[in-house]
Amino acid sequence: MNIDQFKPDDTGKFSPLLYRYLKRNEKFGQFQVWQRPINEAKDEFSEYWAPNHLIVGHGSDSCAIGRSLGSIIRGERGVNGQSFAYAIGMFGLRNITKEFWEKYASIGRCAWDAQHRMGMVGDGERFTFTDNGLTMTCNWCGKIYCGTKRVRVERHRFIEWKEVA
Ligand SMILES: [Zn+2]
Repeated sequence: MNIDQFKPDDTGKFSPLLYRYLKRNEKFGQFQVWQRPINEAKDEFSEYWAPNHLIVGHGSDSCAIGRSLGSIIRGERGVNGQSFAYAIGMFGLRNITKEFWEKYASIGRCAWDAQHRMGMVGDGERFTFTDNGLTMTCNWCGKIYCGTKRVRVERHRFIEWKEVA
């Protein structure tokens, strides 16, 4: 994996903070990515790559040493910004190194925000709006969303009193 292919540019497709983490730690060798399971049974994985459930770092077949992607892209410091060692068997980690870097190279940060709901550092150029603002196209992955205009009507119930006697 060549780190420089993930160098952030004006499109915002690649994370500046992930790039910084990769650059600072490249001396440790090839980066691997593991996904944590979403349940205690340790065999169920979310179809979405939630940043807090991904670990980016280095390791062997039995041990992963790294940080959660969530902590990396939030730029956390102190204890939360440190690398930890995870026993792969104990945490039920799944190695997704190949798929992760391929997807990240192709669609950038949409790899971990397929639903397009996260606000991210430097994402101002992520979407192009057309059709009077009702069509939203993601410039990173190409996904298109159509919007529907809705009007919210506030209804008030009240009793009108009329003097009758
Ligand atoms: Zn996208």
